[in-house]
Amino acid sequence: MQKTILHLDLDTFFVSVERLINSELKNKPLLVGGTSDRGVVAACSYETRGFGVHSGMPMKMARELCPEAVVIRGNAGTYSKHSDLVTDIIKEKVPVFEKSSIDEFYADLSGMDRFFGCYQYASELRRSIMNETGLPISFGLSVNKVVSKVATNEAKPNNQLKIDFGYEKRFLAPLSIKKIPMVGDKTYQTLRNLGLRQVKTIQEMPVDIMQRVLGANGKVIWKRANGVDNTPVIPFSDRKSISTERTFDRDTIDIVKLRGILIAMTENLAYQLRRGEKLTACIAVKVRYSDFNTYSKQMRIPYTSADHILIPRILELFNILYNKRMLVRLIGIRFSYLVPGNYQINLFEDTEEALNLYAAMDDLRKRFGDKSVIRASGMGAKTIGRMVNPFNGQPPIVLAHRKQ
Ligand SMILES: [Mg+2]
Repeated sequence: MQKTILHLDLDTFFVSVERLINSELKNKPLLVGGTSDRGVVAACSYETRGFGVHSGMPMKMARELCPEAVVIRGNAGTYSKHSDLVTDIIKEKVPVFEKSSIDEFYADLSGMDRFFGCYQYASELRRSIMNETGLPISFGLSVNKVVSKVATNEAKPNNQLKIDFGYEKRFLAPLSIKKIPMVGDKTYQTLRNLGLRQVKTIQEMPVDIMQRVLGANGKVIWKRANGVDNTPVIPFSDRKSISTERTFDRDTIDIVKLRGILIAMTENLAYQLRRGEKLTACIAVKVRYSDFNTYSKQMRIPYTSADHILIPRILELFNILYNKRMLVRLIGIRFSYLVPGNYQINLFEDTEEALNLYAAMDDLRKRFGDKSVIRASGMGAKTIGRMVNPFNGQPPIVLAHRKQ
């Protein structure tokens, strides 16, 4: 059966939220990110792009390229709230949807055309999001995720585009190969060096040549260039979570030890998040006392995957929870409200050094194991509970090179 897949993407999300809060920022060049000299650009308005500014570049460089830009230090909490608002509207109107990042969604509208026109339905959904949140959003509608995503990007800013069934190849043909999702800077250069510029050229090439040049990726890119994609919409669930816990051989009341274990657990789970390119927006701590009574407490937080943000929050929850002064039998932590995403959301407080430090620590963990690097405060915890089923028992997720 032919599918109908909708892709929705909030336009320059952080920038739009800042303009919603302060309307004087409208139509002005705007940079959001770390404001110190060592900060990084997390988002930039369309007005700055003509100056060569892009997200991920050092703030200092962006300011030099576009001196008239207003620079704002972002706020992960504010963006998380607005993201939730949009999610709630979509949740109400669409049975199956995927939250693919803090500002991006896929929805499977297959079968809905019998009752409503899908395009009309998507248009109305977009209109209600804009009316209710005040945020501009664009969409693409087609037979699969890849073509819809490309369509959204072509529609932007603040517009919508439908690709009729059978027109996928024709739509993609004149575009630059850079527009194919998955073609990052490196792949783009490789393809450019082969003299490829337009998607059309890939469409006309035999698939084995692409495979020979780029390996397995080559085949996927060739398929995408031809408008072929079978990846399903993965339903979003608030309940999807990762967790870890530890039962003690002998019940303990050693608070320093308990805190040390919580720190080590948080570090480990946060690393699992980053490895899976995910963020959490809800954390929980569980304590079981020697009398087997179990208490847990959870807290909504701004989307993050950073240890230095998560650890104080976990300890704060533990302090609220651990009021019995009784022997503890088990402690555990859980992260839920998982959403795909990377450091971008944490860029406001972070300097380049902090980001590089995380990258270096995670690299060591990848090479030498989860516990090869740990915080000194967590060192007392020699063993923490084995990772329980990270991301539903799927095979380990390999770090992908994501383009912002
Ligand atoms: Mg966006």
